[in-house]
Amino acid sequence: MFSSLARCASRAALHVLKGTSRPSKPGKVPCFGHQTLAAVPLPTVGGTTVVRHAQVLDHKRLLQVEWDDGSYSFYPFTWLRDNCQCPLCMLQSAKARSLLLTDLDVHTGMDQVQITENNKVSITWPDQHSSEFEPDWLKKRCFSPEARQARQEELFLNEREFWDSALQIPMADFEAVLHDDKAALAWLVALRRFGIVYLKGAPVEQGQLARLSRRIGYLRLTFYGHTWQVQDKPMANNVAYTSGKLSLHTDYPALHHPPGVQFLHCLQQAQQGGESEVVDGFHMAELLRREDPEAFNTLSSLYIDYTDTGSDYCDFIVQSKNRIIDVDCEGRVVRINYNNATRDSTLDLPLDQVQPFYSSLKSFVELMNRPENVVSYRMEPGDLVTFDNWRLLHGRKNYSSGGRTLRHLEGAYLDWDEVMSRMRILRKAVHGDS
Ligand SMILES: [Zn+2]
Repeated sequence: MFSSLARCASRAALHVLKGTSRPSKPGKVPCFGHQTLAAVPLPTVGGTTVVRHAQVLDHKRLLQVEWDDGSYSFYPFTWLRDNCQCPLCMLQSAKARSLLLTDLDVHTGMDQVQITENNKVSITWPDQHSSEFEPDWLKKRCFSPEARQARQEELFLNEREFWDSALQIPMADFEAVLHDDKAALAWLVALRRFGIVYLKGAPVEQGQLARLSRRIGYLRLTFYGHTWQVQDKPMANNVAYTSGKLSLHTDYPALHHPPGVQFLHCLQQAQQGGESEVVDGFHMAELLRREDPEAFNTLSSLYIDYTDTGSDYCDFIVQSKNRIIDVDCEGRVVRINYNNATRDSTLDLPLDQVQPFYSSLKSFVELMNRPENVVSYRMEPGDLVTFDNWRLLHGRKNYSSGGRTLRHLEGAYLDWDEVMSRMRILRKAVHGDS
């Protein structure tokens, strides 16, 4: 299926596009961070989990489950009662909890536990309500740090492969992705892992992004429309709609929730110039954290104003406040929000933080522009690039406008929730995982 992927020379990229869940580390591309799962086995799935023994630890209000490999898991009483799977506590048709929190005794005891003949864990509660739990279901929800981490990785695929200019962009066939579940799954897994996948062979006509988005769910509508046309336009309402150079940026940080995924489809390329550039923003942020921790701290703590004003799908005056390097509560980089064109002249900082902010931003931008970090490619008609707009910064070289060939890309946005939803459904269809 992927034998035609000529540009996919990276071992890691090939590995992922073949649908393997754990790519080997590529030889040349440095990988930092988010790699912690490499040594952690995923919980056993597929009905092979067997409970050997279950014991009530009353003093700790925990149920101790011993598995047949001799390992143990522990489950709080309250959590077990809260997650009873019976038809009274769960609306089976929605797989949703119908037990009300007002009816949950968060200090419940446990009367009795038994292993049933078909190896389920059966619990009787003090009010004589009973619950049964499948071993697989329980094991996936084990509270050990390793199991929690494995489960989160299974759900969110947060393990990333960082890259630099040596990246061979993973590539797949447009029609295969549309019609073959394995190809579609490999596409989305690679999109998550590497942040960019190139699709070849799309028809050279508008509307292909809408087709591709229906493969996932639906497009994200913004003030620029369901899809948008990147062309040199008179009185452009966006710097993208000119023939000038676009410095490395993420799209739409003027929104508080910028689009997670971007699609660009090349319909016509300029005769000269117009090459695309991308950089791995998560990798750059980690490099900045090591090389210039002060700059990293500044950019990951200060909220910067963005603005976008104009009229397109309808008229708009958009304002936002975003951190250029967005981190979660544990300091992990989760999103890059940087577009120099829409960074507002309003800068809501105390006077003494203005100069440190500029120096930090300069440091970050210089780092991302180093030739060893930037991947360049030239799109030809029928090429389609899909990338993580929360992670990658992208740009383009200027091009000569006018003449017979007018450069034309069609663009569209999606969000990660919809993309990850399709990825999980495809994984279930292809591998049978739940
Ligand atoms: Zn129940």
